[in-house]
Amino acid sequence: MTTNSKKTLIIPSIPQVIVPPHPQWPPLSAAEFWALKERIKTLLKRQNAVLVAHYYTDGALQDLAEETGGCVADSLEMARFGTTHPAETLVVAGVRFMGETSKILNNEKRVLMPDLGATCSLDEGCPYALFASFCDQHPNHTVVVYANTSAEVKARSDWVVTSGIALPIVRHLADQGEKILWAPDKHLGHYVQKQTGAEMIFWPGSCVVHEEFRAVALERLRKLHPNAAILVHPESPEAVIAQADVVGSTTALINAVSTLPNMEFIVATDKGIFNKMRQVAPGKILLEAPTVGEGATCQSCANCPWMGMNSLHNLVDVLETGKNEILVSPELAGKAKIPIRRMLDFAARMKKQQISVGVGQKG
Ligand code: SF4
Repeated sequence: MTTNSKKTLIIPSIPQVIVPPHPQWPPLSAAEFWALKERIKTLLKRQNAVLVAHYYTDGALQDLAEETGGCVADSLEMARFGTTHPAETLVVAGVRFMGETSKILNNEKRVLMPDLGATCSLDEGCPYALFASFCDQHPNHTVVVYANTSAEVKARSDWVVTSGIALPIVRHLADQGEKILWAPDKHLGHYVQKQTGAEMIFWPGSCVVHEEFRAVALERLRKLHPNAAILVHPESPEAVIAQADVVGSTTALINAVSTLPNMEFIVATDKGIFNKMRQVAPGKILLEAPTVGEGATCQSCANCPWMGMNSLHNLVDVLETGKNEILVSPELAGKAKIPIRRMLDFAARMKKQQISVGVGQKG
């Protein structure tokens, strides 16, 4: 996939993404909280359903997923889990592309989500028509898209990747001399390019949560906590990544908290992850990395408003009513499944070869 023709790279201008306010859920007394959880447990059993939650969702949902035999995971593991679990219904607490990925991989199963409006700035900022036209302008590139995209965008791609597996897949493609069109997260894309040396062009999308972390404020916080390890998700800006001791997917950052000897950590990713970090490393001190909110108005304040649309309240509602089902036509699912399967098969081969996946630990 090479060409000698020199073309000017036209970067598409993407639609402005409207970030919703963080949802406010009615407070629950201890008795109400317990009753709601028990009701959900009963409904999950009765409907042969399993709850799959992302690390960025509310801690109560994460705990409930684990208590009921579901899983709490990053998007790669969430996708894998649904394919191996025998439940007839998958209830996905996360954002829409995660529900769609579950449906694509399990077209025969029912997939429900607490709120179908829970999207993602990366997905919203990469509409299919614009993206397809960008791909058409670069026919000699292998199209690699991040999981945070719609089913249509996935269907137009050659590979789907998550942050946990982006590095080895792109390295593998670069080794074969392939040029890469990367979408939609520009920060993750630039990080991957830096690590792999691959020839890449980028879609200019970004995550509203990670984009708000600030390098200067982070540097100040580090001076106050010189023994803290800085953990950064690679959707963050380059200057923030440059200060990291560990750069990696949510799973890699959680592993870092439990395996590194440090007692203090500064964490630059959505604060929903603290629930699992506290579980795996009780007693360690976790500090939030500073965002643009310091002296200004942050949009996400390190807490994804779309992930916040998942709660016990609307979870019980979808289980009672069966509403909010994710539908992906078998034809579209068939096309989108190919690049996702490619990623899962690659991950399985790596696991077999016992190669560690996706953590960039500096030093
Ligand atoms: S945290 Fe960022 S990447 Fe994740 S769902 Fe929210 S907007 Fe999308």
